[in-house]
Amino acid sequence: MAGRPPGSRLRPETPTGKMGWCLVDFRVITIFPGMFDAFASHGIIRRALESGRISMEAMDLREYAEGRHRVTDDRPYGGGSGMVMKPEPLAGAIRSARSALPNAKTLLLSPQGRPFSQAEAMRLADLEGIIFVCGRYEGIDERVFETDIDDELSIGDYVLTGGELPAMVVMDAVIRLIPGALGNEQSSGEDSFSDGLLEHAHYTRPPVFEGKDVPEVLLSGHHGEIGAWRLRSSLIRTFLKRPDLLDKRSFTDEEKQVLREWSRYLGRLADE
Ligand code: SAM
Repeated sequence: MAGRPPGSRLRPETPTGKMGWCLVDFRVITIFPGMFDAFASHGIIRRALESGRISMEAMDLREYAEGRHRVTDDRPYGGGSGMVMKPEPLAGAIRSARSALPNAKTLLLSPQGRPFSQAEAMRLADLEGIIFVCGRYEGIDERVFETDIDDELSIGDYVLTGGELPAMVVMDAVIRLIPGALGNEQSSGEDSFSDGLLEHAHYTRPPVFEGKDVPEVLLSGHHGEIGAWRLRSSLIRTFLKRPDLLDKRSFTDEEKQVLREWSRYLGRLADE
């Protein structure tokens, strides 16, 4: 077995039955555990599970509900439309997940939460375990929020029908940051937002597509020039698509040089 990745714990059993290092354990509390089957069985997520780098379990909230019908929702006190998730099954499921993962953080997915971002994904990738609570209906009983939730995350200013898709969004962004999850051939270090900029443009074969050429420098094999071209592409794309990202940036000398050259180029265009 390869050297121990920093922050990992030895797991005697991985889903493939091999010894392995597990970096983050995920539990998801949901009334629709089946939604996570497709998520867990494709691409990088499937590989991360099979290698034992992560563990993931979708817990069926109904199993923590009482009665023949295992009801998980009820009418809101004070009246009004919609239903509210009952406190007892939710608290039971969270506490059961916590006893399995005592060092995990419990996160509620909610449109009222802090906005999720790449920086947040990096912080979460350092945790030992994450328990996601997926709301449905009008959301969860406030008393469970007060006693059992560590943090609240939103994936954007819009309202979805449930927290399952947001939980998958957050897990996907976190899992690809876990060492080894992307495989040797890929790295997340150059992705958009990882250094505060959008990533440069990409091209692949053929060299000419519908009359359009690939920029010549990318075919040159000259790593220094390719690096400079990519930095320029990255800076210009960020300026054009997300200028807000540049507002608080302290530019390196190389970046300042690119911006000066570009500004001179724009100046010449304006004078023509
Ligand atoms: N009544 C709630 C409100 O206005 O804040 C919205 C409830 S929403 C219909 C049902 C569930 O979907 C939420 O409890 C949450 O788990 C999830 N959800 C909806 N939009 C979300 C978002 N933008 N980010 C994260 N979770 C979201």
